[in-house]
Amino acid sequence: MKNIVVQKFGGTSVRNLECMRQVLNNVRRPLANGDKVIVVLSAMAGETNRLIALARQWSDHPDPAEMDSLVSTGEQISVALFSMMAKDEGIKCRSVLGFQIPIETDNSYGKARIEDIDSEKLLKMLEIDDVLVVAGFQGVDAIGRITTLGRGGSDTSAVAVAAALKAEMCEIYTDVPGVFTTDPNICAEARKIDRISYDEMLEMASMGAKVLQIRSVEFAKKYNVAVHVRSTFSDEPGTMVTQEDTVMEAVQVSGVAYDKDQAQVTLVGVIDEPGVCASIFTPIAENKILVDMIVQNPSKDGRTDITFTVTRADLDATLKLIEGLKGEIGYQALLSDKNVSKVSVIGVGMRNHSGVAAKAFRAMRDENINILMISTSEIKLSCLIEDKYTELAVRTLHQTFVG
Ligand code: ASP
Ligand code: MG
Repeated sequence: MKNIVVQKFGGTSVRNLECMRQVLNNVRRPLANGDKVIVVLSAMAGETNRLIALARQWSDHPDPAEMDSLVSTGEQISVALFSMMAKDEGIKCRSVLGFQIPIETDNSYGKARIEDIDSEKLLKMLEIDDVLVVAGFQGVDAIGRITTLGRGGSDTSAVAVAAALKAEMCEIYTDVPGVFTTDPNICAEARKIDRISYDEMLEMASMGAKVLQIRSVEFAKKYNVAVHVRSTFSDEPGTMVTQEDTVMEAVQVSGVAYDKDQAQVTLVGVIDEPGVCASIFTPIAENKILVDMIVQNPSKDGRTDITFTVTRADLDATLKLIEGLKGEIGYQALLSDKNVSKVSVIGVGMRNHSGVAAKAFRAMRDENINILMISTSEIKLSCLIEDKYTELAVRTLHQTFVG
C-alpha cells in the first residue's frame, strides 16, 4: 500500500466553490507524490449553526438523536460537493459518511466518543479510489443511529482516522497560519508557534485557543500522531503539535490563553466534615457538568467555604443541584458570579523554571487587576479575574513572558 496522508479542512476552507478549489490544490500535493489521501471535511462555515437554529424553531428540547441526524447533514453536503468537483477535475475519489466506514461511537448524542474505526474498510476503499472524502464530526452508535462528536468534532474525526491507519501525521487545515502564542485579536504581538507539545496544546485548547477540538489532541497524544495545523490558503508551514522535547523545555512560557466561559460558585459556611466535597461534586459530575477550578478555604469553627467554576451554560443547573443539597450539607449561603474569566500562562518549561507565578502576579498587580482564584499545574498557572479585565490581563501576561 502507498503512503496515506490524512488532511482535514475546516468550515471556512469549504465555505464556497472558490475555497474548495484551494482545498483541492492542497490535496493534489500528496497525490503528486503518489500518496493516497483521506480528506476529512467540516460543514460549510455557518451551516452547523444554521441547522441548530432550525431545530430550535421546531422544538425547545430537540430529541438528541434527531438532532444528530440533522446536524450531521452539514458534513454530508460538503463531502458530496467536494467529491463532485474533484471528480470533474479527474481525481479518483468518493465521499464517505461516518456510518459507511463505520466510525463507531458510544450513544452520547451531541458529544459521542469514537470507539472504533474499521481501518480495513478504509484501506479497501483506498484500493479503488485515490482520495476518500470523509464526513467529519459524525459516527454511528451500536444500534445504527447517527451520532455527532461535539462542536469542532471534525478535528477528532481526522486524528482518529489517522490513528486507525497508523499514519504518522494528520494535517489540519484552517483559515489561520497555525497556533498562536495568544489570541491575535486581543494582542497584536501574538505570533505563530512552530512546535508545541500535546500537553501544552491541551491547555491552550481547553482555554479558548479554539484551533483544535480538545479531544483531537487527546487522541493524537494517545496514539502519537503528529498534528500539523496550517492554513489552507498558504504554503507556509504551520504549527506542529507533537511529543515534548528539550527545545520546548527551554522555553519558560509557550502561550497565554483565556477562557471567558467561566462562572464562579461559592458555598459559604459549609460544615467541614468528611464526605462534604463528595456530596457536592458527585451530583454535579453525574449531571455531566465539568468543574474546572476548585478551592476550599481552611476551616473556621468547623465550617469552610468552597468555591469552584463551571461553564456559564452550566451555572443554572449547578445552582439548582446545590440548592437541592442544602438539607444534606447545610451551607449558610450560595453565591455565584457569571462575570469572571480565566487567564493562563502555559509552558512545559515551567517545570524547571522557578518564579513564573511571582512574575505573573507582579504583572497583574502593575495593571491593578485583582486575582479572584488561582490554580496551578506542572505546566500551567491560571488566574480567575473579573471578566472586564480579560484583554488587559492577556496582553500584559503575553508581554511579560512571550514578548
Ligand atoms: N461542523 C461541526 C461544527 O461546526 C464540526 C466541525 O466543524 O468540526 O462544530
Ligand atoms: Mg474547528
